[in-house]
Parts: sequence; structure tokens; C-alpha cells
Amino acid sequence: MAKNHCVVLDSRPGEDNVPTVDNFCLKEYPVPDIEDGQILVKTLCLSVDPYMRSRFNQHTGTDYMSPWKLDCPIDGGGVGAVVESKSRHFCKGEIVESIHWPWQEYAMFEVEGFNSLILNKVESELVKSHVSLMLGVLGVPGLTALLGISEKGHVTEGANQTFVVSAAAGACGSLAGQIARVEGCTNVVGICGTEEKCKFLTDDLKFDAAINYKDDDVDSKLKEYCPGGIDIYFDNVGGQISNSVIKQMNKDSHIILCGQISMYNTSQPYPPPLEEDIENIRQERNITRDRFLVLNYYDQFPKALAQLKKWYEEGKLKYRETISEGLEKAPEAFVSMMSGGNIGKQIVHVSGP
Ligand code: NDP
Repeated sequence: MAKNHCVVLDSRPGEDNVPTVDNFCLKEYPVPDIEDGQILVKTLCLSVDPYMRSRFNQHTGTDYMSPWKLDCPIDGGGVGAVVESKSRHFCKGEIVESIHWPWQEYAMFEVEGFNSLILNKVESELVKSHVSLMLGVLGVPGLTALLGISEKGHVTEGANQTFVVSAAAGACGSLAGQIARVEGCTNVVGICGTEEKCKFLTDDLKFDAAINYKDDDVDSKLKEYCPGGIDIYFDNVGGQISNSVIKQMNKDSHIILCGQISMYNTSQPYPPPLEEDIENIRQERNITRDRFLVLNYYDQFPKALAQLKKWYEEGKLKYRETISEGLEKAPEAFVSMMSGGNIGKQIVHVSGP
């Protein structure tokens, strides 16, 4: 019988610790037999994402996400191919994607009845030829960047706005900066953790400037690159970096509160409140800081995806991936992404179609 490797949760790191590869374990199970109403899929690629950090905990702190169970497969965004079908809704060879994809080489999905999980067919020829686009520019990161900006950014064409984004060389950040430019911001500045990432932002993505928060003085670089102050801040990280940005934001400006990755290895509730002096600045300058959650805009996904696809095809959006090869590398890929090892979207490539 064919072997079916699977990554399970071996232990919980604890809310105030950094997860390591030792919290995962690779197991081997038989390839599942399928019954009526089920399909067997082969995993092609998987997504590793910052939100997964909360799924290591016994309680995720949200009602839309469940914790991973010990000794059970990890799950998240994934794309695969149907290899056997006992459902009239799916055929062998079709490409499908889900946000509940188990970290297994082969997996069974219930596709009929009450137990059926949400599984979407990939129809686009563009995506069929590059399936991980579904996990990046044409998936949650692209939607987050676009809808975050359109819902909370207040970009106004002709207003000469300065846009700053943190975790700028990552999946959401790299797209957010480019979208801000397309939508009309005239000065786009990224904050990220290495010189290589800074070069990627300025040379490849044509950001106006990039700041390496590990080596540069963020306060003085922001003054230099944003002489007219900051109008929109796409906040992926929180903490000291965001404090520096907020101090230089203009009156009536806007924070897109996308994520706070600098605090994910702590037991702080989400979103964490700002420190008192920073909150005072926010209130005095009437800076908006509403929580943004992409899943709240589900009805806008089709239109937003069409827009992202158009910009990508026109070359207005550049998209980069960092790819880890093999299911067994998924734990390492997650740990690496959380500590800045990725440029663009971190993908785990499991097998060919
Ligand atoms: P990325 O591809 O940006 O990867 C995470 C990056 O975060 C790392 O590469 C690293 O880059 C940076 N980082 C890690 N730790 C720190 C730290 N302590 N301080 C500063 N930067 C750090 O991930 P995503 O694009 O998938 O996610 C980006 C953010 O968007 C996250 O906060 C995530 O939770 C949020 N998100 C929110 C959604 C929503 O609906 N609101 C949906 C999807 C994502 P570097 O080298 O620059 O440090």
C-alpha cells in the first residue's frame, strides 16, 4: 500500500514561547480508502501563515478558528489534485483548494452532506499552471492587502499620500505597498528585517524607500523618507516598529490594523492595546485604528480576486515566493516564516500534479 506521510501536532509550545520544529511530528498512515460522497486528493502545495501561531494554543482567542488537536494533522490553506472521486461533483484530475487542508500527502474530503468541508474547484487556467498563486497574490494575502487598503486605508487619488507598511517584504506587505501605489499613493515606504529584503522592495517592487528595522534607526529613517508625515500605515507587526510609525503620522490619518506578529508569541489578547503615550497621540491626531479581518469581507472576494488577477497579468503587481520542498519541511517553513526567513509568500511544495 502507498505510504502517506502526515504532519501532526506533537506538543504545544505554550502561549509565551516560540514554536519550534519539535512541536511537530511526521507520521506515516495508509492512504485513505474512500466511500460514496468522498474524494481522494493529492496535496500539491501548502500555505504557512502567521495566524497559525494561535492554533498551537489550547484556546485561539477567537471564535472563527479552532485550536489544532494533539496528535492530529495540522491543517491550513492548501491546493491539490483529485486522484479518485466517488462524488458526481468532482472528477479525477481537477485542481481544488481549501483553507482546511490537512498536512498530508494524500487526504480524503467529504464533499457531500452535512460533513462536507468547504472545497473550491480551481477553474482559472492561470492558476492551474501555477497553483500556489491561490495561496498568495490570488488568495488570502492578496485579498488582505487589497481589501485592507480599500476598506480602511482611505487612499485618495491626487492627495499625495505617504503609505508605510511593516513586514513589507512578506506576502501581504509586498502586495500592500504595490497596491497602495496603483491606487494613488505617491510615497511608499516599507519596513522589513534584512538588507536583501530592502533591496527587493526598492529595486524589484519600486518602493520609494525601505528601512531595515534591525540595523537602521527607524525614527530617523522615517523622518528622512516621510518628510510630510505618514498618511496611511498598513500595520502587520505592532510593537516598537508601529510606535515609531504612529509618532510620525499626520492628523486624520489611518492605520490599517492587519496583524501584530511581533506579539504572537505572547499571551496578549488580540488586538493588543497601544501603550498609553502612543494611544494619546492616536487620539489627539484623530488617527483611525479599526481592526481589519479579511474574512469579514467574503462577499467582496470575487470582485477583489478579479482585480488582483488583472493587475498581476498586466504586470502591475509583482509576486514572489519562498518555496520549501517536501511535506516534511512544512514545520521548518512555518518556524522560518515566523522569524523572517521568507521573502514574499512562504509556500511548501509537496508534490507535482
Ligand atoms: P509574512 O509573509 O509577512 O511573514 C511574516 C513576516 O513577519 C516575516 O517574514 C518577518 O519579516 C515579519 N516578522 C516576524 N516577526 C517579527 C517581529 N517581531 N517584528 C517585526 N516583523 C516581524 O506573513 P503574512 O503576509 O502572511 O502576514 C503578515 C501579517 O498580516 C501578519 O501579522 C498576519 O497575522 C496578518 N494577516 C492578517 C489578515 C487579516 O485578515 N487581518 C489576513 C492575513 C494575514 P521581517 O524579516 O521583515 O522581520
